[in-house]
Amino acid sequence: MINHEEEGKKFLDTVMYYYEKAAKHTGLPEGMLEQIKICNSVYKVSFPVEIDGEVKTFEGIRVQHSHHKMPTKGGIRYSVYVSEDEVKALATLMTFKCAVVNVPFGGAKGGMKISPRNSSPKLLEKVTRRFATELIKKNLIGPSLDVPAPDYGTGAKEMAWIADTYMTFNYGNTDAQGCVTGKPVGLGGIRGRTEATGLGTYFGIRECVSFKEDMTKIGLEAGVAGKKVIIQGFGNVGYHSAKFLEEDGAIIIGVAEYEGGTYNENGLNVEELLKYRTENRTVLDFPGGQNVEDSISMLEMPCDILVPAALENQIQEHNADKIQAKIIAEAANGPITQKAEEILLKKNKLIIPDLYLNAGGVTVSYFEWLKNLSNVRFGRMGKRAEEKSYNRIVDFVERITEKKLDTRERTIITQGADEEDIVRSGLEDTMILAYREIREAMMQNPDITDLRTAAFYVAIRKIALSYEMMGIFP
Ligand code: NAD
Repeated sequence: MINHEEEGKKFLDTVMYYYEKAAKHTGLPEGMLEQIKICNSVYKVSFPVEIDGEVKTFEGIRVQHSHHKMPTKGGIRYSVYVSEDEVKALATLMTFKCAVVNVPFGGAKGGMKISPRNSSPKLLEKVTRRFATELIKKNLIGPSLDVPAPDYGTGAKEMAWIADTYMTFNYGNTDAQGCVTGKPVGLGGIRGRTEATGLGTYFGIRECVSFKEDMTKIGLEAGVAGKKVIIQGFGNVGYHSAKFLEEDGAIIIGVAEYEGGTYNENGLNVEELLKYRTENRTVLDFPGGQNVEDSISMLEMPCDILVPAALENQIQEHNADKIQAKIIAEAANGPITQKAEEILLKKNKLIIPDLYLNAGGVTVSYFEWLKNLSNVRFGRMGKRAEEKSYNRIVDFVERITEKKLDTRERTIITQGADEEDIVRSGLEDTMILAYREIREAMMQNPDITDLRTAAFYVAIRKIALSYEMMGIFP
């Protein structure tokens, strides 16, 4: 049986190992490195909730890993297996993830010991509102303090309950909606959040494979088009990663789910597979593919890019040697264990780390927070003005060329950017710049030979700079 406390400790140890591995290249003083590493505050709370005449006690935790930038930011997960070390590990990762993609937040994470599956909506609402109240009591939530988001077992509904509770206690505060992200669009959420992590994964992979010299080193051509891809986990992140990669010409040859996989060396049709899975609740027997017995054996099949987008610890010491993909793109958090990583790196595999690759979610959450603070939808002020100037340009070109565009062509050319366009553009820019920074760090430090160490290195240095500027560490 899995010991979840031990698993949490293992996860925290792994994060610390990656941190130490990168920290030693920074040349920063010990005291500074210790401060950047440790969790700044941990708050544990128990409270009673009455349900159907019975009173039950629930335990919640909120970890704020780093206050070098405020607010702190990170999801709240609902699971009976939540452990303190697991939440600490996730909060720590959030700090470095935000730093890598230049999102000006410190890292945080929360957890509540509750089974979302076995709890009624009424109980979930009561527990969520009470947890939010406990956080409000201690000043541990607020647009400029700490901003939760959805995580495992929570979604837009829980975020709406948290926002409503916070707004009730902060009546008249026009920034109040920014106390939490991942809300429904009608309550201050943002368009483009649903696909953000998968789209960010695609942008990250595209940037990585665009460097010809890096691809040559691992025996691949540059570019997404024609790359054979296997995806593990066809949920939010897996599906969107597959969709955007396919749109850019990649061939999705395999998709693995917990019940097994479907494979077609000429390519699966991602939309048809989604439709099939929604109708049949499985990817097995998909008419466009052949069944593969289990999810783990799919990881070991030949391909150019493997995208684990399901769970942590999927590639371990015992199967790392069998991975044939040349690039492993970590869309999930922690899919490769520390020992497995050593094996993969020795075999010249290129690992695009979770820390960077799945940061699209927090990046777009940042945009949602900005939207809430400015109280205006992105695109509202400029869209029509943009369209007018594009129309003036088209009118001019039509006049001098004496050629007329049809209505459809004109609409495509003159359309102004709406919220989704702006969010996607911001995400694309973020993922491109962050990858270049990580790559640059590798090029300037020949001792750093993998992207994960480089990403941690970049993040540690940015956080150190904040402390230096505060004058805490001269
Ligand atoms: P999800 O629940 O929508 O999808 C996960 C999918 O994986 C599900 O379809 C599930 O059936 C499948 N799965 C479960 N066990 C499996 C197994 N053994 N083999 C193959 N497939 C399996 O979750 P998601 O939001 O897509 O998140 C996936 C991963 O990405 C997680 O590690 C999560 O922490 C990480 N992540 C998600 C976001 C986000 O914005 N959603 C952001 C950052 C990181």
